[in-house]
Parts: sequence; C-alpha cells; structure tokens
Amino acid sequence: MSVVDRKHEAEPAVESRAADRNGAGRIPVENPATGNTIAHVPDLGAEAVADLVDRARRAQPGWEALGFEGRAEVMYEARAWIVENRDRMLRTVMEETGKTREDAIVGDWSFICDSLGFWAKRAPRYLADERVRPHSPFLIGKRVVVRHRPVGVVGVIGPWNFPLNLCFGDAIPALMAGNAVVLKPSEVTPLSTLFMAEGMRAAGLPGDVMPVATGGGETGAALVDHSDMIMFTGSTATGRKIMARAAETLTPVSLELGGKDPMIVLRDADVERAANMAVMGAMSNGGQVCTSVERVYVEEPIYDEFVRRVVEKTGALRQGPPADGGSVDVGAVTFPPQAEVVEEHVRDAVDKGAQVLVGGERGEGPGRFYRPTVLTGVDHSMKAMTEETFGPTLPIMKVRDEEEALRLANDTPYGLNSSVWTRDLERGEAVARRIEAGNACVNDALVNFLAQEAPFGGVKSSGVGARHSSQGIRKYTNAQTILITRFGPKRELYFYPYSKRVTAVMERLITLLYGRRRRKRKK
Ligand code: NAD
Repeated sequence: MSVVDRKHEAEPAVESRAADRNGAGRIPVENPATGNTIAHVPDLGAEAVADLVDRARRAQPGWEALGFEGRAEVMYEARAWIVENRDRMLRTVMEETGKTREDAIVGDWSFICDSLGFWAKRAPRYLADERVRPHSPFLIGKRVVVRHRPVGVVGVIGPWNFPLNLCFGDAIPALMAGNAVVLKPSEVTPLSTLFMAEGMRAAGLPGDVMPVATGGGETGAALVDHSDMIMFTGSTATGRKIMARAAETLTPVSLELGGKDPMIVLRDADVERAANMAVMGAMSNGGQVCTSVERVYVEEPIYDEFVRRVVEKTGALRQGPPADGGSVDVGAVTFPPQAEVVEEHVRDAVDKGAQVLVGGERGEGPGRFYRPTVLTGVDHSMKAMTEETFGPTLPIMKVRDEEEALRLANDTPYGLNSSVWTRDLERGEAVARRIEAGNACVNDALVNFLAQEAPFGGVKSSGVGARHSSQGIRKYTNAQTILITRFGPKRELYFYPYSKRVTAVMERLITLLYGRRRRKRKK
C-alpha cells in the first residue's frame, strides 16, 4: 500500500509499510473545500512509533557526522526541490486544508523556502562552541568551553492550520543541529508532511533521519514517550497533556499553543491601514492562525469610522473553493469541529446582545465554509472575546481610552501575539511593552512571525519556549560545559589536606573580595 492513496503520488514511505505489517488502521484525509476524501494514511500505533524512533536514533550519528556544511547542502538542495515542485506542493497544502493559493504561498511554501536557507546559514553561528572566561578566583588560568550537542531524536508534533510551516518547519533547525527528527503531522493534514519527506529524500537526506509517523493523538503520545525532546504546536489543552506525559520521562518540551490576540487601535491611528490589517489579520488563512487578530479594541473617537471601513472591506471578500491564484480571498474551515466552535461563539455573542454586521453564518457547501463575520456590541462576557475562536470572525469593542484597552487586552489567559495602532511611535511602543504577550507589533500584525532572527513564543497559556533565533535551535541541543586546566600546579590551594593556616588565608581573601559594600552612585 502506498502512504497516500489515489492522486497523491508521494513515494510509499517506509513507515507506512511498517504500519501495514502491524495491521494499523487508516485515516481518511478530506478536502474541506469540496468535502471529498482525497487520500488515506496509516494510523500508527505505539509499537510502530517506537520502531520509527529506534531507527531514527540509529541513523542520527551518521547525520551528525556530516557536520554543518554537509547538512546545509541537503537544506539548499531541498529548497531547490520545493521551488521546482511548487505546484504539486501548493496543491497538496491547498487540498488538505481548503486554504487559498495565496495563504499556502505565504504561510507555508515561501516560509519553508526561507527557513531552509536561514537555518543552513545561521546554525553554525548559533551553535558554535563558546569560550567562556570564568570570573571565579578559584578558576584563574582555566579554560571553559560550552558546546551544543544534539539531543538525539526530536519528536515534532504539528497542527492542521499550517501543515508545512508548523511541522516540517520546526524540523529544519532540529536537523541542522544534527538531530534525527520524527514528524507527527496532524491527522487532519498529513499529506504536506509526507510530500516534504519525499522532497528531503530527493535532496539527499539519509534514510530514517526524518521518518513520518502518521496518526492521531495516541500516535503523538507514543512519540512523547520515546523521543529525546518534543516540539509541539497545537492547542493549549493538548499542550498540557503533552507536558504532563513528558514529565514521566523528564523529556524537555517546547510548546507553541493557542492565542486570543488583541489589536488596540488608538485615536491617532491611520484608520485605513488599521482597518485593512484588521480584516487581513482576522480573515487570512480563514482566521485559522494562532497569531490572527482575534479581537479589536478601538478608542471612541474613531470607532465608528473604523467599523464602517472594516464592514465595507469584509463584505467585499470572496469565499469559496480555492482554485488558482486570485480566485477567492477566504478559504474553507479545515477542521470539522472548528466550524462548530465558530458558530457557537457567534451564537453566544448574539444571545448576549452583540450585533452581526456582516456574515454570521455558514457559507454554501458542499465544502465547509463560514462567512467572514464582523461583530460589534461585544464585551468580555462573550466567548468571542475571551476564548480562541480560530475562524473568520472579527469582534470589535469600543473603549474609552488606552488604559481601558490595555486592561481588556490583558484580561486573558493567553499571551501570544498582539498589536497597537497609532501614529505616535513612542506611545505605541510604550503600550506594546505593557501587553502581556510574547510578541507585539506597532502598526502591523502577523508579519512579525517572519523575523526568524528574533524569538517567537507565547507566555501565560500560549506556550513554553520559543521558535526562531538562537533559542529556536539551542532548544534542540544539550549544552555541555568542558573545563580545561592546562598548567595546573601539583596542588591547588583548596586541595587536601585542609590546614588551619591555608583556611585562614582563604577566608581573609574572600572577605577582602566580597566584604566591601557597593558605593552608592552620585546622582
Ligand atoms: P491539537 O492540539 O488538537 O492537535 C495538535 C497535534 O497534537 C495533532 O497532531 C494531534 O494529533 C496531536 N495530539 C492530540 N492529542 C495528543 C496527545 N495526547 N499527545 C500527543 N499529541 C497529541 O491542535 P490543532 O487543532 O491541530 O491546532 C489548532 C491549535 O493550534 C490552535 O489552538 C492554535 O492556536 C494552535 N497553534 C498555535 C501556534 C503557535 O505558534 N503558538 C501555531 C499554530 C497553531
């Protein structure tokens, strides 16, 4: 059996043959924009996952031995492969998610192209040995080196909203650090990951260095049990389960979880740009973006004008089954239960007094759509303002001033992304610094994810750890500190046997060193 039936021509992955031997079940993959089943993939059990991790562990030393240069060559080759095969790749992403070609280009394909080169180039610098000069008087003349060695096998567990970016994308730095990686894509969207595995093999990645474990929650849980480190992107509820399970084996985890990202529009904002970004930030990828604009707070003097523009722009959006570029603006709802969450949030808001100015209902089938929706008259008694909706909705609330906006923006268990809109850049940055979120933009939204040089992670219930930057690759390594004594005397001051005289000298020296109070600085 091939890993994907019918139209997806990806090479049969080794793990699928293992799955067949083990008699694993099969998971149907749907095109949410048409409702058609487009493929089936194996649902791997715990034993098959353990087997994949074992094989990856055996393959890892050979991959590490290639060094940064050898591994970078594979990354550059993979980049060329995905550019050459972009049409198949974009179609695979579009078909299993129901997203538009533009959303697949920006959110998945181009990001992966960029990431492959970014990590190939930066990894050697981020992971270079560090010479440390120790400050302790006991260590005078000694050399200390910190090295970053790969953890071994990294398990990457991904969600369905950006099946390439948030699954394979997180494997790139792990691979560049010298690890083997077992990928566990979402059971809703496994095809893009399988396609990428084919690409990596074509680019020269040795067999078993990056196998794919298709399956659902149990497959992911088994990966947590066997991996040396887990990189997870998904809901906060699943993140909690993963952290608890990883505690059993003391396996380190990095968790990128849900969000309820606020947008604060101050009275001196460029209303047209803010309205454009509010609509883009809420509706792109069908609103299924962890960093999407989930709620907006607008200062009273510009509230009416802002709402008028947002309603006009949202009303003009085209929705339907995505075809080629430019065919529609907003795609389908990828995950069936998500459509119910969106419906429930809108219903709950309306029951409590909110107004629907555009949309507010499901779109026409046979695919699964929810119409781009603008809600006003909302407050924090409503789920639309307090729980992650993860759909094409834009609830807008009027606020008295900056202080009220900040209080409401921080009234959430989440802390992923956020934005502030004002022409006064100093004020914008000051407000951004008071938002309890791992990331904040002034006069922008979403694009901060592309700054791979800077850490991107959530605080509060939005995550633990970060991707991107040196943090985003060092998390896939263990630091090993090596102290080297080159010209050691036969006997150091603190060696045995202890003597009254030497101890007294040591005490006096330490008292001299640390006993003085710090002088207060003159103002
Ligand atoms: P999910 O938590 O339902 O599933 C994510 C992955 O976890 C899937 O592969 C799933 O099979 C697996 N899984 C489920 N139960 C598991 C278990 N017990 N042990 C191990 N693995 C398990 O999330 P989803 O619905 O696929 O994705 C949407 C969520 O992801 C949203 O909350 C969104 O905000 C979040 N997200 C966060 C980021 C970020 O960077 N912070 C990015 C994208 C999406």
